[in-house]
Amino acid sequence: MNYKRSSALFAQAETVIPGGVNSPVRAFKAVGGTPIFVKKAKGAYLYDEDDNRLIDYINSWGPMILGHAYQPVVNAIVDKAKKGTSFGMPTEIETKIAQLAVSMVPNIDKIRFVNSGTEACMSAVRLARGFTGKDKIIKFAGCYHGHSDSFLIQAGSGAVTFGSPNSPGVTQGTAKDTLLARYNDIENVTQLIEANKNEIACIIIEPVAGNMGCIPPKEGFLQGLRDLCDTNNILLIFDEVMTGFRLAKGGAQELFNINADIVCFGKVIGGGLPVGAFAARNEIMNHLAPLGPVYQAGTLSGNPLAMAAGLAILNELNSDAEIFNRLEEKTTYLHNGIEKVLTENNITHTINRVGSMISVHFDKAEVVDFETAAKGNNDTFKKFFHGLLNEGVYIAPSAFETWFITDALTYEDLDFTVEAVGRVSETL
Ligand SMILES: *Cc1c(COP(=O)(O)O)cnc(C)c1O
Repeated sequence: MNYKRSSALFAQAETVIPGGVNSPVRAFKAVGGTPIFVKKAKGAYLYDEDDNRLIDYINSWGPMILGHAYQPVVNAIVDKAKKGTSFGMPTEIETKIAQLAVSMVPNIDKIRFVNSGTEACMSAVRLARGFTGKDKIIKFAGCYHGHSDSFLIQAGSGAVTFGSPNSPGVTQGTAKDTLLARYNDIENVTQLIEANKNEIACIIIEPVAGNMGCIPPKEGFLQGLRDLCDTNNILLIFDEVMTGFRLAKGGAQELFNINADIVCFGKVIGGGLPVGAFAARNEIMNHLAPLGPVYQAGTLSGNPLAMAAGLAILNELNSDAEIFNRLEEKTTYLHNGIEKVLTENNITHTINRVGSMISVHFDKAEVVDFETAAKGNNDTFKKFFHGLLNEGVYIAPSAFETWFITDALTYEDLDFTVEAVGRVSETL
């Protein structure tokens, strides 16, 4: 494939944007080469500036669960735009999407909309601290909760890809309040709580980790966290920015039948526009300004275009009873296909999958936490990535990322992908 125009555009971008990108993982640093510039997208396909067609397994890192330029979402945005794009005053559509989200997700009474997943997680932790009157938080190595200071401690995905798990600019003062635990290791969490008795406000976790590849919670792990939180007066925060409205209507809470105290959203909830949200029961949410003392605000929060896109996608997901089954079936089909061709070609690998989140690790050991995720063979991944790209299949440009399956993918697309993986694995 020819990437002449993408390369030229990247060279221009580098002169005025740090690294040429507005979010680091887009820069292809982990896999080498220059990033591809997108011209347009429709359904399951991206079309780049050199007119190559790529099957998209990133889908804007999750939001495009029904495919790109999905007509009901596009219509909703266009209709709204004609009536003005921001007012800084309340609008009816904010209540509509809030009602729908509250009806779809278990165990929440109220929801506050923000502009990104980062903001959602940052605000959720502030609320947990304000509610409990305690300062420390527990997060898991390899989990990503956005780029706010408290979370940039072994943050997974982009942060790991760039070899700076602990970012300069995060003060010692902030870092000392973030305690780091091992994913899927309940003993480790128990010890941390013991060592910091009555100091921990919350445990924040991706209920299915998606930022060190896809890592499912072990049987009983999430329930173990729930029990520890109940015993020790700690709030359990599920960061469902990736899993919310993807694994089930009610996200991971519904899938695993575990209640979290605060839930964070992003990605799918905005239908491709910049939206995040956090939600909880009344007793917790009523601590937020203007009802309570915990401050949180946003000039563009609840923006009408963003709410219109979010409402349109949630309506589709809510009214299509088969959608999550269909996504699961397509992803299982892909999983089985890739498994078969990698095995036939004697490529050492482990595939992890939950619902429509899947990742291929080039190591034979089970991948259960950050340490085991980091053991994957990165040279193999690089070749795999570029090989697939050359075949017209676009996966995330880092071994620490999950693939997101969209309902726009047909079985022909999946067969095409498996055949491409077969050809590429002969070269690995
Ligand atoms: C993407 C992501 C975030 C950050 O969301 P942004 O919208 O990029 O700020 C937070 N948590 C998880 C689990 C994510 O996957």
